[in-house]
Amino acid sequence: MILQQPAAAPVGCYIHVPFCRSKCPYCDFYALRTGDAQQAAYAAAIARRLREAAAAGWRWSSVYIGGGTPSALELPALRQILEAARVSRSNPASEFTVECNPGDVTQELCALLAAQGVNRVSLGLQSAVEAERRALGRRSGAAQLRLAVERLHAAGVENISLDVMLGVPHQTQASLGETLAFCAELGAAHISAYLLKLEPGTPFARKPPPGLPEEDAQCELYLAACAWLAQNGYAQYEIANFCRPGRASAHNLLYWNAEPYFALGPGAHGFTGGRRWLYARDLDGFLAGAAPTQDGTGGDFAEYAMLRLRLTEGLREDLLLSRFGHGIPAAMRRAAESLEPHGLLRTEPGKITLTREGFLLSNRVIGALLGEVLNK
Ligand code: SF4
Repeated sequence: MILQQPAAAPVGCYIHVPFCRSKCPYCDFYALRTGDAQQAAYAAAIARRLREAAAAGWRWSSVYIGGGTPSALELPALRQILEAARVSRSNPASEFTVECNPGDVTQELCALLAAQGVNRVSLGLQSAVEAERRALGRRSGAAQLRLAVERLHAAGVENISLDVMLGVPHQTQASLGETLAFCAELGAAHISAYLLKLEPGTPFARKPPPGLPEEDAQCELYLAACAWLAQNGYAQYEIANFCRPGRASAHNLLYWNAEPYFALGPGAHGFTGGRRWLYARDLDGFLAGAAPTQDGTGGDFAEYAMLRLRLTEGLREDLLLSRFGHGIPAAMRRAAESLEPHGLLRTEPGKITLTREGFLLSNRVIGALLGEVLNK
């Protein structure tokens, strides 16, 4: 029912591939270890649903294939998904991203991605320091990552994003600097740098690994990463995302601007027609044809403000006026002005932005700003 009416304009499309070769001890994404037969059936199911969406009139302004590990699929299965996604892109130059495991990036995979119009690849590095990678249970090493980037560049995929993890066991500011310098040396266009969180239900939450930095040290690592990246040509545009000029992720910006996007796959969330919806984390159910379920309305002022304050651009009065017909509420501005002396945010004519220190406490700062509006 949710998906019967296509959006009037093209929207982003997220496709979840719920398979990994092994499960990382910190990860709470929906990702399973299954055989090739089930993966082939999954690719066929995704391709069929993409064709149905295309026939109904859906078009994609960006495509993001994530997971899990999309590159863990056999090439024919991955090709099936890429082909079905590609035909509904609104513009051949629009962003088309695939997440890959560095160890999977063969010349054959690169040729397939390039031939299908994939123009952005996201690779999980986490750390260039071998001992840190081992502590995270990662399989590929820095040398494999270097080879993956070289192969992608040779195939013409220049827009490469690397994931880096902050606050990993035994990490120091010096070892973090080594990892960031490695990313820059490889020519990464984009870097995502997330603090390690002990997600409930994961092996790390049940038994935290030795050598985890204390909270203060984690904050210092985040601030050091922001400073290093700024000094080396990577502009911060979101709490955890940094890029070379013009390389911000168009697809991920849809999320932070509360713009609509379609989604497919168990555990995937979509937002269309002002409603949020999701597929259950149930591969068998998805393969049996399960539909997504409603997850409430989305895109109201509070949600929009919460998402926009994650961006370095912040909450802008001009955008609020065109979207909601009003600017920053007076109660919110008063709350912001009272927090400003603490260095957590900045108020300027026409906008509120969080500082790096504010990003570290974003939930509390945004909660304090919105609390004033919601309690009014
Ligand atoms: S490869 Fe990525 S998705 Fe798979 S288990 Fe590790 S962190 Fe999670």
